[in-house]
Amino acid sequence: MGYRLPILLAVVVGFSGLLLFRKSQLSSPLQQSPHDGTFRKIADNLSRQGYVWHVPIANRKVELYVFLLQFGTDYLLIDAGPPGEEYAEFFIKGLKKEIGSGHLRLVVLTHGHIDHVGALPALKQAYPEAHVAFHTEESPYLTGEALYKDVPSDNKEYNLITHDVSAALPESRVLHLKGSSGDVADAVSPTGRAPKWLPPRDALQFYHMPGHAPGQVVYLHTPSGSLVAGDTFTNTGQPPALGLPPPRVTPNVTRARLSAKALAALQFKTAFCTHDSATGVSRPELQKWTQSL
Ligand SMILES: [Zn+2]
Repeated sequence: MGYRLPILLAVVVGFSGLLLFRKSQLSSPLQQSPHDGTFRKIADNLSRQGYVWHVPIANRKVELYVFLLQFGTDYLLIDAGPPGEEYAEFFIKGLKKEIGSGHLRLVVLTHGHIDHVGALPALKQAYPEAHVAFHTEESPYLTGEALYKDVPSDNKEYNLITHDVSAALPESRVLHLKGSSGDVADAVSPTGRAPKWLPPRDALQFYHMPGHAPGQVVYLHTPSGSLVAGDTFTNTGQPPALGLPPPRVTPNVTRARLSAKALAALQFKTAFCTHDSATGVSRPELQKWTQSL
């Protein structure tokens, strides 16, 4: 039965600017993908799977990660990667190998840009019971009520267009995160029904970090001190260098800068962004960088 919510996803015009990626990366070893689909452990009960995505439109490749948290036999995924059959096969195969007979209970999104939600349709098929949570400020862009191209922008380079890949999530599988911060254990269903599964209380906090997207959030896994930071910052190139996401895909650069500073003030050990040519960044390193912003 189900009320279908078409998911509108963001695509970039002139993807060359999409994600930060310096010219130096074009000649980096990333062109020969080092990733084999394995989820590699980066902290206790936290692993990540990397992929080198050939960005459509532009002849560019970008490295990106999705993250998996384990709570006993229950699993929680952070973000769902880019669209395309090739990625979906790679992603789901690696996920099934990692989860085995465990259960994928929840997918939490940092935001709705296409390289974070593209494989949601494949996930929906592979794991029909999993719910998907995101911030209420991002909700209109995920349900089709609003378009990323219409987000008020403080810079002239901003140029996101959208297209519909119809992830068609039933409303019964959606959960909302509300406010400036909170516990993912408090996520609520728009239907008013109690969610079937939520992570243990005090295990996963979210913080609203707008700028790059209106409802972008980051997730702090408190037991390991790991911050999964989406696109609040990037760490790309050879050698990797910290940076803000590019204006072309960031409507509010001023707020993005403030969010990066707010991020560095959180209590964490290591922050992992989506586009990371290293293995995370320590809090002192991130603080040093944000002081220069
Ligand atoms: Zn983004």
